[in-house]
Amino acid sequence: MHDIKIDAGFDGGNIRLVRIEGDTIDLEIAKDHDSDFYQWFYFRVAGAKGRRLSLRIVNAGGSAYPFGWPGYKARVSTDLDAWRLAETSYADGVLTIDHPVETELVWFAYFAPYTMAMHHALVARTALQAGVTHRQIGTTLDGQGIDYFTIGTGPKSVWLYARQHPGESMAEWWMEGALEWLTSPAASDLLGKATVHVVPNMNPDGTRRGHLRTNAVGTNLNREWHDPTAEKSPEVLCVRKMMDETGVDFALDVHGDEAIAANFIAGFEGIPSWTDAQGDLFTRFGEELAAATPDFQTEKGYPKAKPGTANLSMSTNQLAERFGAVSVTLEMPFKDHDLNPDPAFGWSGERSKQLAVSCLTVLTGMIDAL
Ligand code: ZN
Repeated sequence: MHDIKIDAGFDGGNIRLVRIEGDTIDLEIAKDHDSDFYQWFYFRVAGAKGRRLSLRIVNAGGSAYPFGWPGYKARVSTDLDAWRLAETSYADGVLTIDHPVETELVWFAYFAPYTMAMHHALVARTALQAGVTHRQIGTTLDGQGIDYFTIGTGPKSVWLYARQHPGESMAEWWMEGALEWLTSPAASDLLGKATVHVVPNMNPDGTRRGHLRTNAVGTNLNREWHDPTAEKSPEVLCVRKMMDETGVDFALDVHGDEAIAANFIAGFEGIPSWTDAQGDLFTRFGEELAAATPDFQTEKGYPKAKPGTANLSMSTNQLAERFGAVSVTLEMPFKDHDLNPDPAFGWSGERSKQLAVSCLTVLTGMIDAL
């Protein structure tokens, strides 16, 4: 029998080994650099074939969203392609994954990863499509590019941007679905009426470092939109500058939510310049999306801000205020969309891609009203 080896020393990896005692392995999730946030994990186990492991994340109770653990199931893969639900329980601040290991190598993650290697492959194949313009509009503090696409020729300005919070990997799965649809014949109606601006990954540094929520210097990018700086948030600075050049009629910011077991959207209630017409278009988007797919609903979600209390450091509020845009935060679950559950995979990368198609189909139907 070999020794069991645990490591996360790869693109997007995050775990720290505490101890191995027989088949019980105690682990900790590392904090985002210069931050107290942590929840994303992604690690490999080697040399445990034929053993039933009890993998205990012993600092789960101190994570950013401990209320996300009850009812949550970790993802497990033997081929880095299919990510199935693993038997997972949460008690006394410890998240325990019980797993019978059948292969020499097995990977565990908070959600199906979307690594920087996958990002580069997505960017490369998208940039080669007809009708697509790629630009690198900025550089991160770790020296990675901020990739930006424009697709379409229409007068309306649509912005899609994702993964301000790097641990929310479903957001870039959504982008993969969006970019595949936008470069297909199905998008021709939308692209005649709108120019679609896409930033598939707002936070490459956090992605590669295996962060939950922040960039290389511990900045939560979705609290920087009122006043981004080159020192703390160059990612937001370059994207907001581009938005100032193009204007924004419709914006969609793609995220994942730790606790709520459903897809939902959040809006911009409480901005100083709120109008009912702007709000009605937000509501229409949600209602039409719920009618279009069983993978969306409008009952569960975040509480709405009271008039005048919107936090303008958050992108959705900032863009609604700054441009009068219909501005949408999309949240997808780490758990499952309980109204339409999948007992084998839970919410998944593939379903995130499908939801992007539903979102863009609904947007096409209301683009004239924007
Ligand atoms: Zn988020």
